[in-house]
Amino acid sequence: MKPVCPFVKAARPDEMTSKPVCPFVKYTRPDETNSKKPGENLCKHQQETESKTTGDSATVPPKCPFGYDSETFKLGPFSCIICQALLFESSKCVPCSHVYCKACILRFKDCPICGADIEKIEADSKLQDMVDRFIEGHARIKRSHSNIDKEEEVREKKQVIYADVSLERGAFLVQQAMRAFRAQNVESAKSRLSLCAEDIREQLERMGNTSDLCSQLGAVLGMLGDCCRALGEAGSAVTYFEESVEFLSKLPMDDLEITHTLSVSLNKIGDLKYYDGELQAARCYYFRSLNVRRDAIKHHSDVSSQILDVAVSLAKVADVDRSLGNEDVAVDGFREAVKLLESLELKSEETGLEQRRLSVLEFLKSQLAEKQPDTTQ
Ligand SMILES: [Zn+2]
Ligand SMILES: [Zn+2]
Repeated sequence: MKPVCPFVKAARPDEMTSKPVCPFVKYTRPDETNSKKPGENLCKHQQETESKTTGDSATVPPKCPFGYDSETFKLGPFSCIICQALLFESSKCVPCSHVYCKACILRFKDCPICGADIEKIEADSKLQDMVDRFIEGHARIKRSHSNIDKEEEVREKKQVIYADVSLERGAFLVQQAMRAFRAQNVESAKSRLSLCAEDIREQLERMGNTSDLCSQLGAVLGMLGDCCRALGEAGSAVTYFEESVEFLSKLPMDDLEITHTLSVSLNKIGDLKYYDGELQAARCYYFRSLNVRRDAIKHHSDVSSQILDVAVSLAKVADVDRSLGNEDVAVDGFREAVKLLESLELKSEETGLEQRRLSVLEFLKSQLAEKQPDTTQ
């Protein structure tokens, strides 16, 4: 029988569904929203774009005539109103002819637009071709540039332009992917993210392992792992998460967003191993995640969400220790986590964090109550 840890399920706020963070647009995590000053929410990309456009008009990012920019999105003839993203496997309802993604419309009996009974659905490959070409145009702006002029590309100025365009493009694809993922059109999300990952890899080959590219790829690979997990493809999910870890590990560990993504990817591999009954492997990944988080609080001991993360990691490791029969080690881990959380003082505005603190604390105490009688102090 597979071991099922209730905590593994309970502690899934990290998932893409509940906490979508675009790797290209560094929004604050929901937990931090209140503690940020106004203006800090501006994404890094915007700030960079603004500072560059003031000095040099050549670096103005291209604007999409359709309005499909990273910050805005219009639903148009290429979009599916169910998932609010660009059509994937466009399918036409018969007889009303309204078009949706295949995965989206398959969940309905009546057409969501006109209410007509759906007799059958037919693939609309012509329309899908147009959508795909449109995405290609958006997704490969930089590529067509680099094909035209290989020499110019080497010049530093051009590289700046490419970096800009790539952010726009990456953000666009990730935005589409996150919309589709939230609407449970996982295949669509996976397809957009794969294109995005492919593009970043090409840039990496040309520009080397810059920290921006590594962190973007690490995050996108993590999202691909989420897609595979949602599709029940555990093996591929582990592969993506491991690759995500590989790229994120190349980065300096003083950026909270990066350490968070890294530790989450490690935990997700741990979860998959755990559900697969590979407890020793699961412990190993949870423990690596714990170490990443412990290092992170050395740099940022004042960030409450980091301390919560450490406590969650301690609980995950301790839970596996208990399953492995290492009761004393497990109890030590749970106790350390309780101590951390009890001494954590949150600001009054951090209500979300306080709720999470209390629920983790409750879990930890219930675990300590389950302690074997012969190991009492
Ligand atoms: Zn759709
Ligand atoms: Zn209809």
